[in-house]
Amino acid sequence: MMKEAAQTQNTATDIQTDSPAVGYAFDRSEFWRSIPAWRDIDAETFGNFRWQQQNSITSVPGIQEVLQGLATPTLIADIEDGLLKTPMNVRLTPYIFSRINWGNVEDDPVRRQFLPLGSQFIPDHPHAMDDSLNEDGHKATPYLTHRYPDKALFLPLTLCPVYCSFCTRSRMVGGSTAVKSKSTYGAKTNEWDATFEYIRNNSQLEDIVISGGDALLLRPSQIHQIGTTLLEIPTIRRIRFATKGIAIMPMKFTSDTEWVEALAEVCRMGRDRMKEVAMHTHFNTDREITAWTSRAMKALSETGVRVRNQSVLVSGVNDSFDCLHRTAKKLSSQLIQPYYIYLHDMVPGCEHLRTTVRTAEQLSRRLQGSIAGFNTPRVVCDAPGGGGKREISSYSLYDQEIGVSAWTSPTAKPGEIFYYYDPIHRLPNEGQALWANEPEINRRLAKFKAEAMAKAEATRI
Ligand code: SF4
Repeated sequence: MMKEAAQTQNTATDIQTDSPAVGYAFDRSEFWRSIPAWRDIDAETFGNFRWQQQNSITSVPGIQEVLQGLATPTLIADIEDGLLKTPMNVRLTPYIFSRINWGNVEDDPVRRQFLPLGSQFIPDHPHAMDDSLNEDGHKATPYLTHRYPDKALFLPLTLCPVYCSFCTRSRMVGGSTAVKSKSTYGAKTNEWDATFEYIRNNSQLEDIVISGGDALLLRPSQIHQIGTTLLEIPTIRRIRFATKGIAIMPMKFTSDTEWVEALAEVCRMGRDRMKEVAMHTHFNTDREITAWTSRAMKALSETGVRVRNQSVLVSGVNDSFDCLHRTAKKLSSQLIQPYYIYLHDMVPGCEHLRTTVRTAEQLSRRLQGSIAGFNTPRVVCDAPGGGGKREISSYSLYDQEIGVSAWTSPTAKPGEIFYYYDPIHRLPNEGQALWANEPEINRRLAKFKAEAMAKAEATRI
């Protein structure tokens, strides 16, 4: 499929090594010119965040328009079918769209994250949940989730510059789709007072994560308002802006000077008060890292913001030691600290993207010792139902045949047990057969849960 595109892509992505990080190769070619509609787009235009926003791909006709016939009718039909099954909208920046190898699009790890193919869908696990982490159950205000004692999650908007097929907040992020209706909201500054008031009145809160949606879409004045309001609260010690921006639109940080200056101002205020201002970003593979990333990080490092990365472990994207290791090394070379790798949450519409606790555990073991400790990402399971992040090997019980693991969370949720279910299609044949037999799987699950409860009781601290 699309041989011509493949050849163009290979030429355009010739890697040249002149990155400041000696020993690491970053693509500094004009790779976007492999997309027919952008053949004549120069680096200055491509490097402008407004051009990126205005030319983002948001529909199948949009894909056809930029690929200009390079995508076969079969591929287009497969994408259309995928969009009928997913809870996520389609939205890709030109930057990330042109990181897809359109010559091998079925297996491409970047395509797999953002453009679902109907032919790759697998039915949801019977225990998949819209709100797998029970964030809504911990809402303190309409915009704030308060689960951990000293940390809260502020969600000022539900819009993103790209939409990921595996999004844990697929129930609320982006617009409605054929299978999911949502009440999307943009940033409404006049509705945040109750949230700030709640944070002020809860002195145990020290950390606030500003996420969504994506903080990249907050206006400079909103970055400033949120940052300064939170830093002025004496008990708040750390704030983090969560954005996928560095991975999918790095030119935002070199061309939107007003936004970067607003962040720099918040960072200055943080430094003056001995408080940390961090940015948490989201690279899943090193394919998303290019010379544009280096430029973005140079601009961000001048603001003093600390940047950490949180990946999601996605099947067919980054579920190999080589990919995770390479990505962690390259991110570290750009002052981005590899922080977490999350086991994929149990949300609907992305069963084909999940993997097992066992795989995650094996990858975690291999990563340990392969990179300096402070740059070794922690592989975690965000325990379904609201148990919070747990080290991947810290389950209390795991039945690999039926793919269920039990987790406790003695600090955040004492006395409770949380269960994670591996994707059925990845289980051994015996396990898959059990899931096909409802009375049998119910018996086996009941036995597992009884053992998990007995173990939790025996080991209660
Ligand atoms: S950028 Fe984050 S919040 Fe937005 S769709 Fe992707 S995973 Fe979800």
